[in-house]
Amino acid sequence: MKAKIENMVILGSGIAGCTAAIYAARANLHPIVYSGEQDGGQLTVTSEVENFPGFEHGIMGPQLIENSKKQAQRFGAKFLIDIATSLTTRPDGTFEIMLGSGEKVHTHTVIIATGASARWLGLASEKKYKGRGVTTCATCDGAFFKGKEVIVVGGGDSAMEEALFLTKFCTKVTIVHRRDSLRASKIMQDRATHNDKLAFIWNSEVTEILGDGKVVKGVTLKDTSNGKTREFNCNGVFLAIGHVPNTNFLQGLIEVDEKGYLKATKDMHTNIAGIFAAGDVQDVRFRQAITAAGSGCMAAMEAEKYLANKGIE
Ligand code: NAP
Repeated sequence: MKAKIENMVILGSGIAGCTAAIYAARANLHPIVYSGEQDGGQLTVTSEVENFPGFEHGIMGPQLIENSKKQAQRFGAKFLIDIATSLTTRPDGTFEIMLGSGEKVHTHTVIIATGASARWLGLASEKKYKGRGVTTCATCDGAFFKGKEVIVVGGGDSAMEEALFLTKFCTKVTIVHRRDSLRASKIMQDRATHNDKLAFIWNSEVTEILGDGKVVKGVTLKDTSNGKTREFNCNGVFLAIGHVPNTNFLQGLIEVDEKGYLKATKDMHTNIAGIFAAGDVQDVRFRQAITAAGSGCMAAMEAEKYLANKGIE
């Protein structure tokens, strides 16, 4: 018996993947969504989303994802917990995806919406204290630092958001930034600079995480203007220094830009016909929930057109 070939497999269940699933399911394509490593994507570790249209008073990130999944399921999308470990082309123009579970799936179209993961500093001491004071997620771990002093590394919107969130628990939050001006949007900068519990250390890089072997006790800071180093005491280190796209499993199949993000056309086609990209994995610039959702919609509509042109309903 010939193995079943799915119409559409969506890799990643963040807002891009969920939106693609809503559109594909409504088009009766019965898409299958594989969750990826972080089921629900980055919004599941965000607090309030204030800028997604339609939610006048904001919506919690995990709730937005939960709603979107249910919306896609209502039209027939299937969500499965698994990760893609490889994606290859087959001689008949379809695709084979190997999954972490050991299963494989064949499909006519693929939407890659695998997102991006938090960037780490790359220090050995950071690895040693990961989960013991060093983390990339304030929403997940903030409550463990009640009454403690922490630093947040980074100068973008994420760093401001994480730092502001941490002021709810911590006695003091210090933002350590490698330059003397922030990358964050004006509104986030204003909120951060007007918060009494927040302090800033400018022109400084974390070059070492210090601890007692069990938990973090401080960091070594290097002044980027004169190279001098000093120790700074803190109980926690929150990294908010951007993200790297999740493309390892593709092993060079899809063209990427100089930063490793998938190259997609303005209507979300990759260099391989039948494979589309959506969300943060192909967006080095905007990386917003709404742009990810929009690209998921476009990818699904283009995939639907591709299938129709092939006579697959
Ligand atoms: P980002 O804008 O790329 O900022 C990363 C920050 O980390 C930059 O300040 C960068 O410094 C610093 N950095 C990078 N590598 C570093 C290293 N190795 N050591 C020390 N510092 C390092 O990333 P993001 O803050 O995660 O934001 C990503 C996107 O999501 C943005 O478009 C942002 O607007 C959006 N976002 C929006 C909200 C919101 O609106 N509430 C919340 C979160 C994220 P330099 O500035 O020197 O490059």
